[in-house]
Amino acid sequence: TRTNNEEDLPHATKKTMADHLRKYETLFTLTPQRMRMIVEAFKETLELGLQKPEQVVPMIPTFVFGWPSGKEKGDYLAVDLGGTNFRVCLVTLMGSGKFEITQTKYRLTEEQKHEDGQKLFDFCAESLKTFIDTNFGDEVEGGTGFKLKEGETLPLGFTFSYPCSQNKIDHGVLIRWTKGFGASNTEGKDVGEMFRKSLEKHNVPVTLTALINDTTGTLIASHYVNPSTKIAVIFGTGCNAAYMEHVKDIGKLKDMGINVGEVNGKEGEEMDMAINCEWGAFDSFEHEHLPRTKYDIIVDETSNKPGEQAFEKLISGRYLGEILRLIICELIDEGVLFLGQNTYKLENPYVFDTAFLSLMESDPTDELLMVIGIFSHFFAVETTLAERQFFRALAKLVSRRAARLSACGIAAIVSKMGYIDEGCSVGADGSLYNKYPGFADRIHEGLVDVFGEKGRNIITHHAEDGSGVGSAIIAAMTKIRKEAGIF
Ligand code: BGC
Ligand code: MG
Repeated sequence: TRTNNEEDLPHATKKTMADHLRKYETLFTLTPQRMRMIVEAFKETLELGLQKPEQVVPMIPTFVFGWPSGKEKGDYLAVDLGGTNFRVCLVTLMGSGKFEITQTKYRLTEEQKHEDGQKLFDFCAESLKTFIDTNFGDEVEGGTGFKLKEGETLPLGFTFSYPCSQNKIDHGVLIRWTKGFGASNTEGKDVGEMFRKSLEKHNVPVTLTALINDTTGTLIASHYVNPSTKIAVIFGTGCNAAYMEHVKDIGKLKDMGINVGEVNGKEGEEMDMAINCEWGAFDSFEHEHLPRTKYDIIVDETSNKPGEQAFEKLISGRYLGEILRLIICELIDEGVLFLGQNTYKLENPYVFDTAFLSLMESDPTDELLMVIGIFSHFFAVETTLAERQFFRALAKLVSRRAARLSACGIAAIVSKMGYIDEGCSVGADGSLYNKYPGFADRIHEGLVDVFGEKGRNIITHHAEDGSGVGSAIIAAMTKIRKEAGIF
C-alpha cells in the first residue's frame, strides 16, 4: 500500500510529474501578446452590444442614471438572489457614504434552482416576510428599533444576478439562466412581475422599486464610499462587470424605443447610465477568441447550457475546481496518478470545489499537509509529495489563467472608456476575488502585461456590498428621480 511519504515513490515519479506539469503550463499560459488580442476583440464586442440590440454580450442598459450623490438616506429592504444564497437585508442609509445593515442568509438547495420559477420566487417572498416579522413585527422588542406603520410599505431593491433585459428599472426579462440554474417557466419572462406576484400572495409589505444586477449594485455602492470607482466586477460563482456609460453612446436605445432626452429635456443626452455588460457571455457559441483547452470543452459540453457563458466558464468559481478535477481524472485514466487506489470519489462532476484550489495554494507547510488532508479526507486517496506539489502547481495555472483573462475584460472597458492615463478604481467582489490567495495580484500583473507600466494606474479593491447597500442606494436614487418626474 502507499502512504503519503516521499520515500515510497518510485524514483522516476518526481520527474514524471514535472514532465506532465510542463504540458499543462503550455496549455494554460497566456502570453501578453495573446492577452492584447483578446482585449481588442473584447472591445469590439462591447461596442457592438451598445449599438445593436440582442447581441451575445448584451450590454444591458440598467436605467440607473449617474452616480449617487452620497446624500441618499432612509430605510430600504434589499433581497439578493445569487448563485448560492438568498439574502435579505435591511439597510439604513445615513448619507455621507455611511450606512447600517441587518441581514439574514438562506442557502438555496439544488432542487430550488431547478423547480418551477414561481415556486422559487414564492420561497424568496416567504423568507422576506419572515425577516420582516422577526426584525420589526409588532411583538419584536429591541431589534432594529424599526416599526412599520399600518398600511405602510418599504421600498425594496431586488438584486437578481442573472442577465435580464430592461426597459425600465423595476422590470426585467430573464434572457437566460446562468451558473447552473435552470428553474422552468422563467426564461423569457418578466422576473420583476413574477416576484411581485409572490409578494402579493404572501402579503409582504413592500414595494419593488428596482430590479438590479449584482454588478450594478456593486458599482453604485463602491462609488458611494469611494468616488474614484468607475468599474465594478464580480468574480464569484459567476463573473461579470458593470460601468457607467454616456447615454449618447448607447446607440441601441433608439431601437429600444427609449428617448431619455424627451423625458429629461436638453440634459437628457448629457446623462450617464450604468451598463450591465454580462461579459460572461463573451465568445459564446463562436469560440473564436478565447484559449479553450480540451478540459474547458468538456466543462462546456457537459454543462446545462453548452456553448453559453464561454468567458465565465474559464474564470468563475463554479468551474475552476471542475477544470482541475478533469485533469486529475485524465491522469488517473492514463495510469499516472493513484495507481492501485480506489478513485471513485473523484469521478463525480463538480466534487472538486474551487475552495480546494484556494486551500492548496495557501498551504504554508513544506509537506503540503493541507493538500494531504483534502485528498485523504474528501476523496479517500493517498498522495505523495511530488503529486501534491503537482496539484498545487496545477491550481496555480488554472487560477492564474482566470485572473489574466479577468484582466483582459477590465482592460477592454478601461481602454474603451479612455481611463488608462488618469487611472481608475475597480470595485471587485465575489468569493474568488475575496478569498483566493493572490487573485487580485495576478489581475494587476495581467493589467501591466496588457498596458505596460500604465497598467499600474488601474487598481482593483474590495467593493462595498453591492447587492445589499448598492441595491438600497439605487432604490433611493430611483425614488428621488420618480418624485422629480424624470427617468
Ligand atoms: C450572471 C451575471 C452576474 C454574474 C455574477 C453571471 O452568471 O449572468 O448577471 O452578474 O454571474 O454574479
Ligand atoms: Mg452574489
